[in-house]
Amino acid sequence: MTDTLTPILSVNWDEHDAYRLEGYKRGGGYEALDKALAMQPDDVIATVKNAGLRGRGGAGFPTGMKWSFIPQGDGKPHYLTVNADESEPGACKDMPLLMANPHVLIEGIIITCYAIRSSHAFIYIRGEVLHVIRRLQLAVAEAYEAGFLGQDIRGSGFDLDIVVHPGAGAYICGEETALLTSLEGYRGLPRNKPPFPAVEGLYASPTVVNNVETIASVPEIITKGADWFAALGTEKSNGHGIFSLSGHVANPGQFEAPLGITLRELLDLAGGIRPGHRLKFWTPGGSSSSFLTDEHLDVPLDYEQVGAAGSMLGTRSLQIFDETTCSLRAALRWTEFYQHESCGKCTPCREGSYWLVRAIERLENGKGTDEDLDMILDVSGNIMGRAFCALGDSVPVPITSAIKYFRDEIIQHQKEGGCPFDPAASTAWADSAGADR
Ligand code: SF4
Repeated sequence: MTDTLTPILSVNWDEHDAYRLEGYKRGGGYEALDKALAMQPDDVIATVKNAGLRGRGGAGFPTGMKWSFIPQGDGKPHYLTVNADESEPGACKDMPLLMANPHVLIEGIIITCYAIRSSHAFIYIRGEVLHVIRRLQLAVAEAYEAGFLGQDIRGSGFDLDIVVHPGAGAYICGEETALLTSLEGYRGLPRNKPPFPAVEGLYASPTVVNNVETIASVPEIITKGADWFAALGTEKSNGHGIFSLSGHVANPGQFEAPLGITLRELLDLAGGIRPGHRLKFWTPGGSSSSFLTDEHLDVPLDYEQVGAAGSMLGTRSLQIFDETTCSLRAALRWTEFYQHESCGKCTPCREGSYWLVRAIERLENGKGTDEDLDMILDVSGNIMGRAFCALGDSVPVPITSAIKYFRDEIIQHQKEGGCPFDPAASTAWADSAGADR
C-alpha cells in the first residue's frame, strides 16, 4: 500500500500530442512490441501471468490465465475483443485513457494477439463517444501507416488487423457474451456460459475478451518485467490502476495509483470533500458495488479487502456523496437505470427491477409503508443469485445498501411524508465561504 501516484498509463496525458503516433513513440511507445515479438508467444503469456495482472473491467480475473485458455492448434481463428463499452454509472477511466493515449491500447492489442495467436482484433466501443471513436480510428490508421498493423508486422511474419466497432448504447453489451452477440450483428443478449468465450466466443471461435485498461497495461509489463508490476499493489492485487473520483470532491478526476491505496489517501490527492461538507457514503466500484461509508476511509482498495468490507472494487469508480445527499434518491436513480437497461431476458431482473423502482419511489415520496421495505428486501433476495447475468445481481445493490446503512433516514421519509433532503443542496457547488465553483 502506498500513498503516491504511479503515472504509467497516464504519464503523457498532459502532452499536446500524446494521442498521436509521434507523441507516443517519443515516450518509448512501441518499444515493448519489438521486445515481445522477439519472445515466444507462450513466454509473453507467462510474463503476464507472473506479473499477476488481473482484469481491470471489474471482475479481476487473472489475465494471463484467461489467455492460456485459448486452445492452440485447433485450426480455428482466434479473436481478441477489447471491451471499451464503458457504461457503469460513475465509470470514467477507459474513455479518458483512449482520448489521451490510444496507442498504448493498440500496442497492447498487438502484443496480446501475438501471444494468443490471433490475427484479428475488435475494439467494441460505446457508440455515444464519437470524439473518442474518431481519435481511436486515427490512431489505428497511424499504426497501419507505420507498419505496426497489417501484414508481416515489423518483419516478424505476424499479421494483425484491428476493427473499431461502435456499439449502440446498451449497457448490457458491457457483459462479455452480450458484447460478442452484438458484435456478430444480433441484438445484444447474454449467452449461456459454458461454453466460455475462450472456447466458443466470437463466431463460435476461441475469443479473449479484455477491458481497455487491462490490455493497455501489457506494454509496460513487457518493458519493465513481471517482477516490477508484481511489486506494485498488494499481495494478491498486483499493479496499478486508474481510480475515478467523482461527485462531492473538490477536484474530481482520474488518479492512477497502486492497488491498495485508500479513499483517505485519494481524497487528499483530490483536495478532499467539497468545502464545508463531510463524507456520507461512496461506491468503490460504480453503482454495482455496495455503498461504503466514512467507516471505510482506510480500507485498502484492492479486490480482497474491498470484498471483505462488504463491497467490491469493480471498475474503481469512486462516487463520493456528502451529507446533503438522500441515499434513497440515489438508490432510486440507480435502480431506474437498471430497470431501463435490463435486457428483459430473465424474469427476476426484468420484473424485479420494475417492482423495486415502484416501491422505492413510494418510499422516496413519503408514501411508503413498512410492507414496502419488507417487499424490497424480499424482491432483492429473489433477484440476487437468480438472474441470468451479472446485471441482475447489480439491481438490488443500491437499495439494499441504503437500507443497511441509512434505514432511519428511509423511515424519516415516511414520518415527514416526503424527502427530508433539499435536492438543490447536493447539486449546488458553493463552498461555505459562498464562492461559486
Ligand atoms: Fe437480461 Fe437482466 Fe437477465 Fe441479464 S439479468 S439476462 S440483463 S434480464
